[in-house]
Amino acid sequence: MNVRVRFAPSPTGFMHVGNARTALFNYLFARHNNGTFVLRIEDTDVERHSEEAVNVIYEALKWMGIEWDEGPDVGGPYGPYRQSERLSIYKEFIEKLKEKGLVYECYCTPEELDAMRKEQLERGEPPRYTGKCRHLTEEEKEKLRAEGRKPVLRFKVPEDEVIVFEDLVKGRIEINSRQLGGDFVIVRSNGMPVYNFVVVIDDALMKITHVIRGEDHISNTPKQILLYRALGFEVPQFAHLPMILGQDRSKLSKRHGSTSVKEFKEKGYLPEAFTNFLALLGWYPKDGKEVLSMEELIERFDIKDVNSAPAVFDTTKLNWLNQVYIRSYPIDKLTDLIIPYLEKAGFDLSSFSRDWLERVVEVTREYFTVLSDAPVYMETFLKDDFQVQPEAKEFISEDLKRLEVIKAFKEKLSGFEGGLSQESFKKLVKEVGKEVGVKGKNLFMPIRIGLTGKMSGPELPVLAELLGKERVLKRLENSLNQLEG
Ligand code: GLU
Repeated sequence: MNVRVRFAPSPTGFMHVGNARTALFNYLFARHNNGTFVLRIEDTDVERHSEEAVNVIYEALKWMGIEWDEGPDVGGPYGPYRQSERLSIYKEFIEKLKEKGLVYECYCTPEELDAMRKEQLERGEPPRYTGKCRHLTEEEKEKLRAEGRKPVLRFKVPEDEVIVFEDLVKGRIEINSRQLGGDFVIVRSNGMPVYNFVVVIDDALMKITHVIRGEDHISNTPKQILLYRALGFEVPQFAHLPMILGQDRSKLSKRHGSTSVKEFKEKGYLPEAFTNFLALLGWYPKDGKEVLSMEELIERFDIKDVNSAPAVFDTTKLNWLNQVYIRSYPIDKLTDLIIPYLEKAGFDLSSFSRDWLERVVEVTREYFTVLSDAPVYMETFLKDDFQVQPEAKEFISEDLKRLEVIKAFKEKLSGFEGGLSQESFKKLVKEVGKEVGVKGKNLFMPIRIGLTGKMSGPELPVLAELLGKERVLKRLENSLNQLEG
């Protein structure tokens, strides 16, 4: 069988992590099975859909490394791939259902439906449409139309039928047609067909073999199965992915922090780490290897291994994965990604060479959790005119020899010829220690303060080598001015 799956988001203006996970699982399933991954934009239900909102979807997928084989922008044999461009197709199938006598016009007003609901609830019954308009005569319809009422179109749900499907994740699911809330609407009074109807037409015509989507759609599936049958379409296989919960085990929402792909990108999660993390939301590889590239995910992904229990969004794990990826990322790519964060933090990078910046990234990256941490850790390397911190000032003032160390080091470095390497720096510091008669903390801390204005930071020889003699001297002078003043 030629596997065909689709990701069918609504252009809401942002890509929720749940949707991103659905896209990823579809993609992994398609690639693992040498199948086709279709992107379809479901824009009939949304009030305002703009090009911009569609672009949000494209960008999120591209960032995650997900490529679609068919879609609105790339085309394909079963287009168009935007529902708003398929309205004439839907009309054709609405006519078919009318011809078969499987749908009828319903003129009930929202108020009437509300009253119906209330009565049922009062009687302790689950709310359902009673089928009130099923048998209206032409004259009755005419009369209702004359009142200015516009009908919806309802699908006739069979009375008492058990609908069964084998969900690839959830297992066997059985539901009686009586539990579906009565005859459901497939076309609104404004003429727009609804999701449950169009999704069936699209999946059938696009020859989708497996419908992989969030668990929140399980209640729609029986209705869709009825429509597949009514139209004589083959029913695809279904796989409903487990819910994603926050750490407190309630449904993941804004309350838990970031929920959109864009937010994670902006915070500085690497796409590879984010995608790797999403793959582990409800799925776990048999071999237990957690750090996996897209190729490795594709190789291992099996829909049967998806857990039916809810997945917990564990930010600690995401952070851990991000650190793992940051540490092994190609340095040039990492530097490209970090530069915008430095610029945003106000650093003027024009005086630094690309090569030098890459070396600074190399020595600091092990401290980053997300790329937006970069300015904090890189500042010590970038900024020469720093303020000496109060606790550092106090430390120096506690012992006269400490100031002397900084002065002596400056003196020594001024007279030093040749490049400042880690080795030569260590040698100079040792000599200063001997001259002033101090060692340990009393030697190294004053030098650190002289070089950075702070009492903690990167390894001094590494810093000194990267700064070079001129910048180290400039820094020592800057510190001494503040310490002596
Ligand atoms: N547009 C629907 C959604 O975003 C698609 C659901 C489905 O995959 O059938 O939830």
